[in-house]
Amino acid sequence: MTESVRQVVWFRRDLRVHDHPALAGALARGAVAPLFVLDPSLLRGRFASSNRVWFLLRAVDALAATLRERGATLHLGVGSPAEVVPAFARDVGASDVWVSRDLAPYGRRRDLAVAEALGAAGVGFHARAGLVVHEPEVLDRAGGGTPAVFTPFLRRWEREAVRVVLPAPDRIPAVMTGSGAAAQAVDPLAGGVLAIPAVARLRLEPPTADPSRLPEPGEGAARTRLTHWLDSGLAAYDERRNELGDPSGTSRLGVDLRFGLLSPAEVVQQVRMRGESRGALRFLSQLAWRDFYAHLLWHRPEAARAAARTRFAGARWPGGQLGDSAVAPGFDGPAEAWRQGRTGYPIVDAGMRQLAATGWMHNRARMVVASFLAKDLLIDWRVGEAHFMRHLLDGDPASNLGGWQWAASTGVDAQPWFRVFNPVTQGRRFDADGGYVRRWVPELAMVPSARVHAPWTMTGEEQAEARCRIGIDYPAPIVDHAAARERALAWFGSLRPDA
Ligand code: FAD
Repeated sequence: MTESVRQVVWFRRDLRVHDHPALAGALARGAVAPLFVLDPSLLRGRFASSNRVWFLLRAVDALAATLRERGATLHLGVGSPAEVVPAFARDVGASDVWVSRDLAPYGRRRDLAVAEALGAAGVGFHARAGLVVHEPEVLDRAGGGTPAVFTPFLRRWEREAVRVVLPAPDRIPAVMTGSGAAAQAVDPLAGGVLAIPAVARLRLEPPTADPSRLPEPGEGAARTRLTHWLDSGLAAYDERRNELGDPSGTSRLGVDLRFGLLSPAEVVQQVRMRGESRGALRFLSQLAWRDFYAHLLWHRPEAARAAARTRFAGARWPGGQLGDSAVAPGFDGPAEAWRQGRTGYPIVDAGMRQLAATGWMHNRARMVVASFLAKDLLIDWRVGEAHFMRHLLDGDPASNLGGWQWAASTGVDAQPWFRVFNPVTQGRRFDADGGYVRRWVPELAMVPSARVHAPWTMTGEEQAEARCRIGIDYPAPIVDHAAARERALAWFGSLRPDA
């Protein structure tokens, strides 16, 4: 291997060495200088999250350790990638920069700017697959554009062969880096990323979730989680995935996919190797939803800030629009009651408090709380989208946008607008013994199961016995669901049909 052909691998949402086509491409050309850039516009942007930053920095440290075992040193730059990446490429004398291709709008703009700056300096820029199972063009090629409806998308997604999954390289021939100014070496043993002065100067906020409840960051921990899930959860996934109180009913791999600690293509391969089962099929279809939303945003980046359905263009949400002070964090009103898990509907409150404490919320609860905000409260779904992005460890611009537009009925393949989740029946169905609600809403710990999803129906005597006075120990419902449903149907029905 000659030192003269030097390659930069710029890691972003792909903090792993297994199945990393960009890393493999760089290694085929020469010695590698790995780089990570802490981009302040993401750290402070509209979807900033101290939970994700907490996880990210530790996952970067874990990556630095993995690379070091293989002979390479990860460097960390702080600043705009359009400046840091070309400067680092110059410092190390690289001919090319390699990345895993980002499909989201900000990443696309950023990569275009970086590629331009590199091109001006005569450095090549190569984006390779790695963040989704199938790249958008692969499915488009299969015939007639990507379907905007999930079921035909899934059929095509299932039919398409998954690209070859690559092993982790044993050794990474490293570029000898000097004392370049663009980025600093990450030494996991000397305090890692956090010990780098430019990072310390950022004064990052601590996570809002309890750190002891956050999963261990890093590729090794993620691979252990994957194996554990395949061995003990996958087969029963179809039956258990909606059980709110079941801590191992779903994989919890969302965060690992979010930061690319796992390759989605490799996850699919591993699931298929376990043989066909209802659990495996259902799990694969959930991974297809992830690709579906990533592809939708790729095809329609304008949907990142507005409803995909035209009937909502210019509509004012009666409960408040994003940007209104009445729905801003801290303003004492229905939006804040929702954020704090104090709506008086136990299933909604349990979901919101689970999110605050752990940075994760069960998918069923995500659907219920989102429907409650957009339909019972008629508040702009983007208020909820922003709150989720602040707290979710797996917070992802495409999946979160897709989930919110699905629940609010504003998306292209959303649930019909006249479908409004009833929080009481959802609770009784998916948390039959009330264990989930009691876990996250301790005020309801002694409320009998028959009442736990509608505690306001307790008599005075029952309230005294359960040590839960409605309106004092636990809030009375902030809206009457039946009346709110009628109001929602009237409002959604009043919007002109889609163009
Ligand atoms: P599992 O049930 O084990 O599913 C396996 C994987 O499949 C997930 O990790 C995820 O990568 C993918 N997946 C499953 N369901 C979906 C889905 N409906 N859409 C897209 N991908 C899916 N998922 C995110 O990854 N990031 C988000 O920001 C996000 N926001 C959401 C917001 C709302 C309002 C809703 C209704 C759903 C949202 N989801 C989001 C989808 C889903 O809730 C989470 O992926 C899931 O709960 C994560 O837990 P898990 O890893 O145990 O999932």
